[in-house]
Amino acid sequence: MIAIDGFVATGKGTIAKQLAKKYDLYHIDTGAFYRAIALKTILHPHDNIDKILDFINLKWEKGKIFLDGVDVSLKIREQEVTNQIDRICNLAKVREFVTLLTRNIAKGESVVVDGRDIGNNILPHADLKFLIIADKEVRIKRRVKQNEAKGIDTSYKIVSEDVEFRDKRDKLNMGNVPERIVIDNTYLTLEETIKEMSKYIDQIL
Ligand code: C5P
Repeated sequence: MIAIDGFVATGKGTIAKQLAKKYDLYHIDTGAFYRAIALKTILHPHDNIDKILDFINLKWEKGKIFLDGVDVSLKIREQEVTNQIDRICNLAKVREFVTLLTRNIAKGESVVVDGRDIGNNILPHADLKFLIIADKEVRIKRRVKQNEAKGIDTSYKIVSEDVEFRDKRDKLNMGNVPERIVIDNTYLTLEETIKEMSKYIDQIL
């Protein structure tokens, strides 16, 4: 079991996917679960969170997320959904729901799980725990570039405020885990990041 926590725009999702491929592990993206719950609140604006969680049917299958039977893997990446995550992601009920769901999927599998609270909360007994970090300025520039590529027109200032806000929240959810291996990929390419992390993984697999 490998836990990967990381800040916004550190590339942790892509890193986790590549490591899963390299080591034949099952990848679980916990951010996708928060996104899908946020999407459900948009689709059912009059339901409270208890009702949303009681009736939600979330399935994670080989990198795809199904909400109530529909593949919403692309839909959950839209800005409208991202904006709604803030309202739900720190509710204890929601965090508990995602924790149990992830543990259930991970049960009996060789997994690499990415998110914010994997090493401290979701998989406290993971064999390896990573924390991916990178300088804030670099992350902001990466995000602006990603937005441009998607055709989203956002200023440096807006992205910088957003990253600042998310970092604060993410730090709280990550907790303090001394055994986490910190990977700073400010000056590393994706390949170099994978190579660095592989040094640790090769020792345990
Ligand atoms: O990783 P991603 O950006 O897709 O996650 C979506 C949101 O869900 C983030 O804003 C993050 O704060 C939250 N999240 C969380 N705990 C996790 C995974 C994601 O709070 N384990």
